[in-house]
Amino acid sequence: MEFEPVIGLEIHVQLKTKSKMFCSCSTEFNAPPNSNVCPVCLGLPGALPVVNKEAVLMGIKAAIALGCKINLTSIFARKNYFYPDLPKGYQISQFDKPLAENGEVEVLTGERNKDGNIIYNKFKKFRITRIHLEEDSGKSIHDKGDSTLLNFNRSGVPLIEIVSEPDFRSSQEAYDYLVHLKRTLQYIGVSDCNMEEGSLRCDANVSVRPKGEEKFGTKTEIKNLNSFRFLQKALDYEIKRQIKVIESGGKVVQETRLYDSSRDMTFVMRSKEEAHDYRYFPEPDLLPLVVEKEWIEKSRRELVELPHQKQKRFIEEYKLNFNEALFLTDTVKVADFFEECVKLSGDSKGCANWIMGDFTALLKKEKVEIDKSKITPNHISKLLKLIKSGNISGKIAKTVFEEMFKSGKDPEKIVKEKGLSQITSEEELLPIIKKVIEENPKQVAAYKGGKEKLIGFFVGQVMKETKGRANPQLLNDLLKKELKK
Ligand code: ADP
Ligand code: ZN
Ligand code: MG
Repeated sequence: MEFEPVIGLEIHVQLKTKSKMFCSCSTEFNAPPNSNVCPVCLGLPGALPVVNKEAVLMGIKAAIALGCKINLTSIFARKNYFYPDLPKGYQISQFDKPLAENGEVEVLTGERNKDGNIIYNKFKKFRITRIHLEEDSGKSIHDKGDSTLLNFNRSGVPLIEIVSEPDFRSSQEAYDYLVHLKRTLQYIGVSDCNMEEGSLRCDANVSVRPKGEEKFGTKTEIKNLNSFRFLQKALDYEIKRQIKVIESGGKVVQETRLYDSSRDMTFVMRSKEEAHDYRYFPEPDLLPLVVEKEWIEKSRRELVELPHQKQKRFIEEYKLNFNEALFLTDTVKVADFFEECVKLSGDSKGCANWIMGDFTALLKKEKVEIDKSKITPNHISKLLKLIKSGNISGKIAKTVFEEMFKSGKDPEKIVKEKGLSQITSEEELLPIIKKVIEENPKQVAAYKGGKEKLIGFFVGQVMKETKGRANPQLLNDLLKKELKK
């Protein structure tokens, strides 16, 4: 029997406000432990929460970008549970009346083979159930032997939780959706979505069902996935595990699991019986949240071009393929850089190749952001022109590129200073070819005797003599002519 996975994601995102959700404490990430705290976010008796309007506006912005309908009135609710990093004994969240509902996003998604190469890509719609506002808990640090350290700087930092419908049918789709969500929230500037710093966190719900079956199977939830790769690996493991359970005649048990990346497997964290009953009730310290229509309209007006819109435009306008469009819309900075390059050079494929290839490799290696690099769109445009005019070969261009990256010098200047211009004149190239032929009588004899593959040897020798500057076409033509003599 063939099985099909069903996946839904619950994603927590920290909003990039200056102050916390219900008090004026700073949200700064790197502040000394327990320095950004006050009676409200420490949960001291009698302290009262005040809603941060900026957080509400950011939540609205996110909801619009994710195609959700905004509830003009939403209700804050108490979610009761005990945990040392939750000093109030409850978290202020939203429950049956969230900020926004019924969203839909269009995601460039596909399937990859085992080597990570794309088999196909397409735009696919996924539904979002709801987006609600809440506050973060403090942070427990368990790495000090028997004791636990508590840092309340994070306590009360504003979050939105984005709950998807169970619409994903592969771990790749879930992965691509998370990428899309991250990009969207970064584009509109409401979150850094930095998984390492915990400003983007993901729980994955997954079940399997026989292919063709409509009814969903029993799901398990994998908590606290802290990287894109781990999300995908955890899902792949869990899907296989559930199929094995069913095939061996067992039943999947509804439970919460954790992923252990060092062993690449999931394990039980708590069963359904141990699940919390949060006893939600409306937060008595806060009035219903009433959103003014003008806030929504303002957000709509200010909405920037979103990732899927950019991707579609790049595919259409610049004739990019899906993979290129996906890559070049990673951040607004990369997309802007690419567009500027195309504007200057008129060569979208050439720009895409350089940015995605050599440039990205160097940026990664040197840990430099694209807008902090010495290479500008102007450099790339000039380099492309040097290649197109035959002034330098593609191979030499790589050397020039590295030099541009290091020094920020113009490519023309580098070519001139280092004498890298391509040799395109017969007069200059012929003597070198003749010299190589003279110096290698054995290979010449073998070539003439039928070993035509040796042409490569001669090309290599001439390239060595010219430091790669010989025009390949001219070299080939001349070599063949000379070797016939
Ligand atoms: P719960 O009551 O356990 O919180 P919800 O219905 O609220 O479950 O859904 C939580 C998340 O689980 C959502 O993202 C939803 O899409 C997903 N989900 C619900 N049912 C299934 C299922 N059978 N298989 C996979 N995911 C599911
Ligand atoms: Zn505070
Ligand atoms: Mg639920």
